[in-house]
Amino acid sequence: MNKVSYLLNKVRHGVRISPEEALLLARKAQIHELGRTAFSVRSRMYKDKAFFIYNQHLNYTNICSNACIFCAYSRQEGEEGAYTMSVDQIRKAVLDRIHEPIDEIHIVGGLNPDIPYAYYLDMLSAVKELRPKVRIKAFTAVEIAFLSAKYGLTRKRILLDFVQAGLDALPGGGAEVFAPRLRRRLCPEKLSGEEWLKIHELAHSLNIPTNCTLLFGHIEAWEDRLEHLNALRDLQDRTNGFLCFIPLPYQPGSNDLKAGGPDGLDMTRMWALSRIFLDNIPHIKAYWVFAGIKAAQVGLWCGADDFDGTIVEEKVGHAAGADTPKGLDIDSLKHHILAAGFIPVHRDSFFQPR
Ligand code: SF4
Repeated sequence: MNKVSYLLNKVRHGVRISPEEALLLARKAQIHELGRTAFSVRSRMYKDKAFFIYNQHLNYTNICSNACIFCAYSRQEGEEGAYTMSVDQIRKAVLDRIHEPIDEIHIVGGLNPDIPYAYYLDMLSAVKELRPKVRIKAFTAVEIAFLSAKYGLTRKRILLDFVQAGLDALPGGGAEVFAPRLRRRLCPEKLSGEEWLKIHELAHSLNIPTNCTLLFGHIEAWEDRLEHLNALRDLQDRTNGFLCFIPLPYQPGSNDLKAGGPDGLDMTRMWALSRIFLDNIPHIKAYWVFAGIKAAQVGLWCGADDFDGTIVEEKVGHAAGADTPKGLDIDSLKHHILAAGFIPVHRDSFFQPR
């Protein structure tokens, strides 16, 4: 048996592989071998189920004091297209869809230095008051670190305040790729990978579940991807607080990085390696907004088990050039999962069937 077959066999028997072994698979395994192995792992866990959620995205401001090179979403104060939603506008956005059976509201935004701390609490309370049963997944580790520095409050205090106001979980954004030399080029002002991990560790210690991400397909190498996945796996071994890993394909449009973005083969390889390597993170997402619906359907055959949700109306990926719809209705979402050959399972924020 050659080394690739030996390692894939090891994975199929539920034995953990090292980052070096995963690197060898990333480089040497044929795509169908990787996909079949990742599929066997996801099938053992979820059979032919594929999860989705009825969710709404709210991007409360695009004004940001950072200038990440890959970001086409952010604006400076006063620049054309810059906006900040008032709490009343947030309320209206929630009320506009109040007749829909939404399970989760996902809230993220830029680092806007002119927003008072009370705004964040008011926004959470307003959403929770209008939608008491909805789970609020809000604010990346980047926003938490920014607020902590700006208002001189500990990260713990902020997380506890937010939970009291209605927060249920943190999204996984802002992780990008942890390698410091890449971060210096991609997002020099953003908190380090180490700090991102510390905030998620803190959230887990406060019983706040979180997601995690990797932005891939730009200037990183497989070594960087696996170093990143290994840091996530190590943290999960300690805390078990990650619900889902979301590999985010880099969107090449409208930014200054001039990188190409991953092709379908690279996305497929990434989903498969994620499922194979992250043996302790329960769910792997094929995020249709960034990947495209057709590629996400393939992702379900190569390790992913979650299709995300209805979204309406995502702004960050679309500003970066994602050419997917800004949202899907529930019937279309189910149709795409069924057409891919899976049974759609409507889930809540914590992946419990509805
Ligand atoms: S990626 Fe986030 S932190 Fe970076 S510029 Fe865009 S909005 Fe700001």
